[in-house]
Amino acid sequence: TISPLIAGNWKMNGLTHSLEELSELARLLTTGEAPRALVVVCPPATLLAAVAAQGASSGILAGGQDCHTDASGAHTGDISAPMLADAGAQFVIVGHSERRADHGESDGDVRTKAEAAIGAGLKPIICVGESEAQRDAGEAESVVVQQLANSIPDAAAQHEVIVAYEPIWAIGTGRTPSLDDIRQMHAVIRDSLVQRFGGAGETIRILYGGSLKPVNAREILAVDHVNGGLVGGASLLAKDFYTIISAV
Ligand code: 13P
Repeated sequence: TISPLIAGNWKMNGLTHSLEELSELARLLTTGEAPRALVVVCPPATLLAAVAAQGASSGILAGGQDCHTDASGAHTGDISAPMLADAGAQFVIVGHSERRADHGESDGDVRTKAEAAIGAGLKPIICVGESEAQRDAGEAESVVVQQLANSIPDAAAQHEVIVAYEPIWAIGTGRTPSLDDIRQMHAVIRDSLVQRFGGAGETIRILYGGSLKPVNAREILAVDHVNGGLVGGASLLAKDFYTIISAV
Protein backbone atom coordinates (compact mmCIF):
# COMPACT_ATOMS: atom_id res chain seq x y z
CA THR A 1 0.00 0.00 0.00
CA ILE A 2 1.21 3.43 -0.97
CA SER A 3 0.70 6.33 1.43
CA PRO A 4 -1.18 9.09 -0.40
CA LEU A 5 0.26 12.51 -1.08
CA ILE A 6 -1.51 15.75 -1.92
CA ALA A 7 0.64 18.52 -3.37
CA GLY A 8 -0.42 22.09 -3.99
CA ASN A 9 1.17 23.88 -6.93
CA TRP A 10 0.75 27.61 -6.42
CA LYS A 11 2.28 28.30 -9.84
CA MET A 12 3.07 32.02 -10.29
CA ASN A 13 0.60 33.02 -7.59
CA GLY A 14 1.31 34.15 -4.07
CA LEU A 15 2.84 37.13 -2.31
CA THR A 16 3.90 37.40 1.29
CA HIS A 17 0.29 37.68 2.45
CA SER A 18 -0.37 34.21 1.01
CA LEU A 19 1.47 32.90 4.05
CA GLU A 20 -1.75 33.72 5.93
CA GLU A 21 -3.44 31.00 3.87
CA LEU A 22 -0.62 28.67 4.86
CA SER A 23 -1.20 29.52 8.54
CA GLU A 24 -4.88 28.77 8.08
CA LEU A 25 -4.05 25.45 6.40
CA ALA A 26 -1.71 24.61 9.29
CA ARG A 27 -4.48 25.46 11.75
CA LEU A 28 -6.98 23.22 9.93
CA LEU A 29 -4.45 20.37 9.70
CA THR A 30 -3.55 20.48 13.37
CA THR A 31 -7.01 21.06 14.85
CA GLY A 32 -8.95 18.55 12.75
CA GLU A 33 -8.47 14.84 12.40
CA ALA A 34 -4.86 14.01 11.41
CA PRO A 35 -4.59 14.03 7.61
CA ARG A 36 -4.27 10.63 5.91
CA ALA A 37 -2.12 12.15 3.18
CA LEU A 38 1.32 13.69 3.13
CA VAL A 39 0.82 17.39 2.42
CA VAL A 40 3.20 19.30 0.17
CA VAL A 41 3.01 22.96 -0.82
CA CYS A 42 5.01 24.17 -3.84
CA PRO A 43 5.00 27.98 -3.67
CA PRO A 44 6.85 30.40 -5.92
CA ALA A 45 10.58 30.34 -5.16
CA THR A 46 10.37 33.69 -3.36
CA LEU A 47 8.21 32.09 -0.67
CA LEU A 48 9.88 28.69 -0.49
CA ALA A 49 12.04 29.25 2.58
CA ALA A 50 9.14 30.86 4.44
CA VAL A 51 6.77 28.01 3.55
CA ALA A 52 9.36 25.42 4.63
CA ALA A 53 9.95 27.18 7.93
CA GLN A 54 6.32 27.96 8.66
CA GLY A 55 5.01 24.56 7.53
CA ALA A 56 7.39 22.52 9.64
CA SER A 57 5.36 22.62 12.86
CA SER A 58 2.19 21.39 11.14
CA GLY A 59 3.80 18.73 8.95
CA ILE A 60 3.39 20.70 5.71
CA LEU A 61 6.33 19.87 3.45
CA ALA A 62 7.73 22.29 0.89
CA GLY A 63 8.56 21.80 -2.76
CA GLY A 64 9.93 23.79 -5.66
CA GLN A 65 8.15 24.16 -9.00
CA ASP A 66 11.17 23.60 -11.23
CA CYS A 67 14.94 23.25 -11.00
CA HIS A 68 17.86 23.72 -13.35
CA THR A 69 19.76 20.71 -14.65
CA ASP A 70 23.04 22.01 -13.17
CA ALA A 71 23.87 22.43 -9.50
CA SER A 72 25.33 25.93 -9.94
CA GLY A 73 26.80 28.20 -12.56
CA ALA A 74 26.20 31.06 -14.96
CA HIS A 75 22.45 30.70 -15.51
CA THR A 76 20.89 34.03 -14.65
CA GLY A 77 17.41 33.73 -13.20
CA ASP A 78 17.50 29.98 -12.71
CA ILE A 79 17.41 28.03 -9.46
CA SER A 80 19.21 24.75 -8.85
CA ALA A 81 18.05 21.68 -6.98
CA PRO A 82 20.66 22.10 -4.19
CA MET A 83 19.36 25.67 -3.69
CA LEU A 84 15.81 24.39 -3.30
CA ALA A 85 17.03 21.83 -0.78
CA ASP A 86 18.99 24.53 1.01
CA ALA A 87 15.80 26.61 1.28
CA GLY A 88 14.03 23.68 2.94
CA ALA A 89 12.37 21.91 0.01
CA GLN A 90 12.00 18.13 0.01
CA PHE A 91 10.23 17.89 -3.35
CA VAL A 92 10.37 19.58 -6.73
CA ILE A 93 7.92 19.50 -9.61
CA VAL A 94 9.67 18.85 -12.93
CA GLY A 95 8.22 18.77 -16.43
CA HIS A 96 4.97 20.53 -15.68
CA SER A 97 3.13 21.07 -18.97
CA GLU A 98 3.33 24.82 -18.42
CA ARG A 99 7.14 24.61 -18.33
CA ARG A 100 7.17 22.23 -21.28
CA ALA A 101 5.07 24.83 -23.18
CA ASP A 102 6.50 28.13 -21.85
CA HIS A 103 10.15 27.06 -21.80
CA GLY A 104 10.27 24.38 -24.48
CA GLU A 105 11.33 21.67 -22.05
CA SER A 106 11.72 18.27 -23.69
CA ASP A 107 11.39 14.86 -22.05
CA GLY A 108 15.19 14.74 -22.03
CA ASP A 109 15.37 18.05 -20.15
CA VAL A 110 12.82 16.79 -17.66
CA ARG A 111 14.78 13.59 -17.12
CA THR A 112 17.99 15.53 -16.48
CA LYS A 113 16.17 17.85 -14.06
CA ALA A 114 14.77 14.82 -12.23
CA GLU A 115 18.31 13.44 -11.97
CA ALA A 116 19.52 16.79 -10.62
CA ALA A 117 16.72 16.74 -8.06
CA ILE A 118 17.62 13.23 -6.92
CA GLY A 119 21.26 14.25 -6.73
CA ALA A 120 20.29 17.06 -4.35
CA GLY A 121 18.24 14.72 -2.16
CA LEU A 122 14.90 16.00 -3.45
CA LYS A 123 11.97 13.86 -4.57
CA PRO A 124 11.02 14.88 -8.09
CA ILE A 125 7.33 15.07 -9.01
CA ILE A 126 7.58 14.22 -12.71
CA CYS A 127 4.62 15.48 -14.75
CA VAL A 128 3.17 13.90 -17.86
CA GLY A 129 -0.11 14.32 -19.73
CA GLU A 130 -1.64 14.52 -23.17
CA SER A 131 -3.11 17.50 -25.00
CA GLU A 132 -6.76 17.57 -26.03
CA ALA A 133 -5.83 16.98 -29.68
CA GLN A 134 -3.79 13.93 -28.69
CA ARG A 135 -6.70 12.54 -26.68
CA ASP A 136 -9.14 13.19 -29.52
CA ALA A 137 -6.77 11.37 -31.87
CA GLY A 138 -6.75 8.33 -29.57
CA GLU A 139 -3.09 8.88 -28.71
CA ALA A 140 -3.39 9.75 -25.01
CA GLU A 141 -1.97 6.48 -23.71
CA SER A 142 0.89 6.20 -26.19
CA VAL A 143 1.87 9.84 -25.58
CA VAL A 144 1.92 9.37 -21.82
CA VAL A 145 3.80 6.06 -21.99
CA GLN A 146 6.45 7.69 -24.17
CA GLN A 147 6.72 10.71 -21.84
CA LEU A 148 7.20 8.33 -18.91
CA ALA A 149 9.88 6.32 -20.71
CA ASN A 150 11.83 9.44 -21.63
CA SER A 151 11.22 11.71 -18.60
CA ILE A 152 11.81 9.31 -15.71
CA PRO A 153 15.49 8.62 -14.99
CA ASP A 154 16.81 5.10 -14.41
CA ALA A 155 17.64 6.24 -10.86
CA ALA A 156 13.93 5.89 -10.07
CA ALA A 157 14.71 2.22 -9.41
CA GLN A 158 16.69 3.22 -6.30
CA HIS A 159 15.35 6.68 -5.38
CA GLU A 160 11.90 7.98 -4.59
CA VAL A 161 10.20 9.70 -7.48
CA ILE A 162 6.56 10.65 -7.92
CA VAL A 163 4.61 10.70 -11.18
CA ALA A 164 1.83 13.22 -11.78
CA TYR A 165 -0.63 12.56 -14.58
CA GLU A 166 -2.06 15.89 -15.67
CA PRO A 167 -4.07 15.92 -18.88
CA ILE A 168 -3.28 19.37 -20.29
CA TRP A 169 -6.90 20.03 -21.27
CA ALA A 170 -8.02 19.50 -17.66
CA ILE A 171 -5.63 22.07 -16.18
CA GLY A 172 -7.41 25.22 -15.06
CA THR A 173 -10.47 24.43 -17.18
CA GLY A 174 -12.86 22.89 -14.70
CA ARG A 175 -13.01 19.82 -16.97
CA THR A 176 -11.76 16.42 -15.86
CA PRO A 177 -11.55 13.03 -17.54
CA SER A 178 -14.27 10.54 -16.58
CA LEU A 179 -13.46 8.29 -13.65
CA ASP A 180 -13.13 5.41 -16.13
CA ASP A 181 -10.64 7.37 -18.19
CA ILE A 182 -8.62 8.23 -15.08
CA ARG A 183 -8.72 4.57 -13.96
CA GLN A 184 -7.59 3.42 -17.39
CA MET A 185 -4.72 5.90 -17.67
CA HIS A 186 -3.45 5.29 -14.13
CA ALA A 187 -3.49 1.51 -14.80
CA VAL A 188 -1.48 2.07 -17.99
CA ILE A 189 1.01 4.23 -16.07
CA ARG A 190 1.34 1.60 -13.33
CA ASP A 191 1.93 -1.14 -15.90
CA SER A 192 4.63 0.85 -17.60
CA LEU A 193 6.36 1.63 -14.28
CA VAL A 194 6.28 -2.02 -13.25
CA GLN A 195 7.54 -3.18 -16.63
CA ARG A 196 10.53 -0.86 -16.35
CA PHE A 197 11.28 -0.86 -12.62
CA GLY A 198 9.82 -4.14 -11.39
CA GLY A 199 8.92 -4.09 -7.69
CA ALA A 200 10.05 -0.48 -7.35
CA GLY A 201 7.45 0.45 -9.96
CA GLU A 202 4.72 -0.90 -7.66
CA THR A 203 5.59 1.68 -5.02
CA ILE A 204 5.87 4.87 -7.10
CA ARG A 205 3.05 7.28 -6.31
CA ILE A 206 0.91 8.28 -9.29
CA LEU A 207 -0.87 11.58 -8.63
CA TYR A 208 -3.80 12.90 -10.63
CA GLY A 209 -3.85 16.62 -11.48
CA GLY A 210 -6.16 18.86 -13.47
CA SER A 211 -9.18 20.68 -12.03
CA LEU A 212 -9.06 18.63 -8.83
CA LYS A 213 -11.59 20.44 -6.62
CA PRO A 214 -13.46 19.94 -3.36
CA VAL A 215 -16.49 18.71 -5.35
CA ASN A 216 -14.68 15.95 -7.27
CA ALA A 217 -11.75 15.07 -5.01
CA ARG A 218 -13.41 12.23 -3.12
CA GLU A 219 -14.38 10.22 -6.21
CA ILE A 220 -11.16 10.90 -8.14
CA LEU A 221 -8.86 10.13 -5.20
CA ALA A 222 -10.66 6.80 -4.68
CA VAL A 223 -9.81 5.53 -8.17
CA ASP A 224 -7.38 2.57 -8.36
CA HIS A 225 -3.75 3.65 -8.72
CA VAL A 226 -4.57 7.26 -7.90
CA ASN A 227 -2.15 7.77 -5.01
CA GLY A 228 -2.92 11.41 -4.41
CA GLY A 229 -3.29 14.64 -6.27
CA LEU A 230 -1.47 17.65 -7.67
CA VAL A 231 -3.70 20.66 -7.12
CA GLY A 232 -3.38 24.05 -8.78
CA GLY A 233 -6.09 26.65 -8.31
CA ALA A 234 -7.81 24.91 -5.41
CA SER A 235 -4.55 24.86 -3.42
CA LEU A 236 -4.52 28.64 -3.12
CA LEU A 237 -7.38 28.71 -0.62
CA ALA A 238 -6.65 26.89 2.63
CA LYS A 239 -10.27 25.82 3.07
CA ASP A 240 -10.49 24.24 -0.39
CA PHE A 241 -7.08 22.60 -0.19
CA TYR A 242 -7.90 21.20 3.23
CA THR A 243 -11.17 19.78 1.89
CA ILE A 244 -9.24 17.99 -0.86
CA ILE A 245 -6.65 16.68 1.64
CA SER A 246 -9.48 15.44 3.84
CA ALA A 247 -11.10 13.64 0.89
CA VAL A 248 -8.26 11.09 0.82
P1 13P B 1 -5.60 23.20 -11.64
O1 13P B 1 -5.86 22.41 -10.38
O2 13P B 1 -5.72 24.68 -11.44
O3 13P B 1 -6.39 22.67 -12.81
O4 13P B 1 -4.04 22.97 -12.00
C1 13P B 1 -3.56 21.67 -12.04
C2 13P B 1 -2.09 21.74 -12.15
O5 13P B 1 -1.54 22.09 -13.19
C3 13P B 1 -1.29 21.40 -10.97
O6 13P B 1 0.06 21.27 -11.27
